[in-house]
Amino acid sequence: MSTTYTAHTVIGVKLKKQQLTANAMMRSCECVSGDPAAKYCSYCGKPMYTSKEVWRLKAMEDDQLTGNIRLVQPYHGCDDYFAGMVLSCDARWSSAHNEGWNFEHWPSDKVIQDLKVALCDLLTPFGLWDKREFGIYTFVGTS
Ligand SMILES: [Zn+2]
Repeated sequence: MSTTYTAHTVIGVKLKKQQLTANAMMRSCECVSGDPAAKYCSYCGKPMYTSKEVWRLKAMEDDQLTGNIRLVQPYHGCDDYFAGMVLSCDARWSSAHNEGWNFEHWPSDKVIQDLKVALCDLLTPFGLWDKREFGIYTFVGTS
């Protein structure tokens, strides 16, 4: 028996889930029509609107933000998200083999600088850019 560890690294920024989401009033039911000003749906009787948590950036509903920038949640339920370039290790680390991790395609300084500019452009309109959060983050998983 051995435990297998995997590692993923994100070059980018850390964001809290509450920075990325907002509450919006959304239609409660899927009825096609009904008076939008009414408190309850005249077809099914449910309240017309309920407050739902939505992603502030439409693209954040999937994990591909733009170009090579992705949004990553290290594990389900984690409050931290990371936006940036994802590097995955090619080799898995095993406690039986002690191989270590090897990132074969480390980006050049220019790629990292371009990434920083792209993240700034993407996140600034939402008030989410903080250059102090730009860095290298690694997550380790076990199986
Ligand atoms: Zn309805």
